[in-house]
Amino acid sequence: MPLEKELSARPSFLPFSRPSVGQEEINEIIDSIQSGWITTGPKVERFAEDLGRYIGAPFIAPVSSATAGLHLALLAHGIGPGDEVITTPLTFAATANVIVLVGAKPVFADIDQRTLQIRVEEVEEKITSRTRAIIPVHFAGQPVDLDPLMELARKWNLVVIEDAAHAIGTEYKGKRIGSTGNTAVFSFHPNKNITTGEGGAIATFDEEIFKTVSLLRFHGMDKNAWMRFDKSGPAHYDITSPGYKYNMMDIQAAMGIHQLKKLDGFIEERTARARAYQEFFGNLRGVIIPEEVPYPHRHAWHLYTPFIDTDVLRVTRDQFMKELKDRNIGSGLHYTAVHEFSFYAEKYGYMPADLPEAHFVSDRVLSLPLFPAMSDQDQEDVVEAVIDICARTKL
Ligand SMILES: *Cc1c(COP(=O)(O)O)cnc(C)c1O
Repeated sequence: MPLEKELSARPSFLPFSRPSVGQEEINEIIDSIQSGWITTGPKVERFAEDLGRYIGAPFIAPVSSATAGLHLALLAHGIGPGDEVITTPLTFAATANVIVLVGAKPVFADIDQRTLQIRVEEVEEKITSRTRAIIPVHFAGQPVDLDPLMELARKWNLVVIEDAAHAIGTEYKGKRIGSTGNTAVFSFHPNKNITTGEGGAIATFDEEIFKTVSLLRFHGMDKNAWMRFDKSGPAHYDITSPGYKYNMMDIQAAMGIHQLKKLDGFIEERTARARAYQEFFGNLRGVIIPEEVPYPHRHAWHLYTPFIDTDVLRVTRDQFMKELKDRNIGSGLHYTAVHEFSFYAEKYGYMPADLPEAHFVSDRVLSLPLFPAMSDQDQEDVVEAVIDICARTKL
């Protein structure tokens, strides 16, 4: 037997994602802390205004996370017990969890395994007399095909709430996600394209929805109750409906204000790295590269998600991830299809093969390191490791 060549591992671990937070964010956080106003206040208002201008939506409600935002958006749109909400199985579990949490039933419509976006014709097949809403997810930073989806929604009188956790800066046919009239929810978790530590925002064109989510995100207190500790604020407040504790803090918004200014630059850096990966892996047996959607768009490249071709390699995706880790390279799994989690399988009777394309992807997809601060050397290390694993494990 020939001697196996030594594994070469990089000296330090490369995570699949790392936030780029600079001195501007740090100074702004210090400013908040020194001002004595740490929680929801003027910086959250400023961040909301900046977001509204960037996204192109008239009403913005910053919240503590996108999960909180999706929860409030469903409640504000009146979705609850007895209702069905159609969404994609290829998403973070939170998208489906909040549907369950409001008492509605999540119904999964299969994706297109090439673009990883929900299939509009699959959505149509899942519509019943109980269907009230659709939550499309702009996967990896590419837009869902909104025109036919909206046509369907209009035809069946359905609410569309966009899970835009991956999609700040994404464009569909020249329009930014969040600017086309639907309620859309963004995430600022540290893995996302911009971060506030934890955080999210609801963008909407509907003033009533905005008022309801604004109330529900802070105990159900009437407007500007956060100012009650300030001289100018009212001492009294009313509770018009019991709410949640989903407000964003000023120290979070302090980061967001500066992150947002850097977003387009971040997307350019992500795009350059993603294009380089596409070239390196385009002809590599063992890796199937992601496809772009066939309609006009701007890809925000939140994730770089190739598949491991288990037909030509004798390793599973999980083993491939372990091999990367042995070489000091992190990778992510976006996602295990939600219908395959035990709660969803047991409660709603889903079998993996019920959504064959999502199941196919769920078994093969992995997220390679992609973030603005990656160096050429970092990317070279990833490419070499992937080529090496493919060479050693090909059938
Ligand atoms: C990250 C993510 C969420 C949840 O975002 P949080 O801000 O962490 O709550 C929801 N949906 C998708 C698709 C996500 O990627």
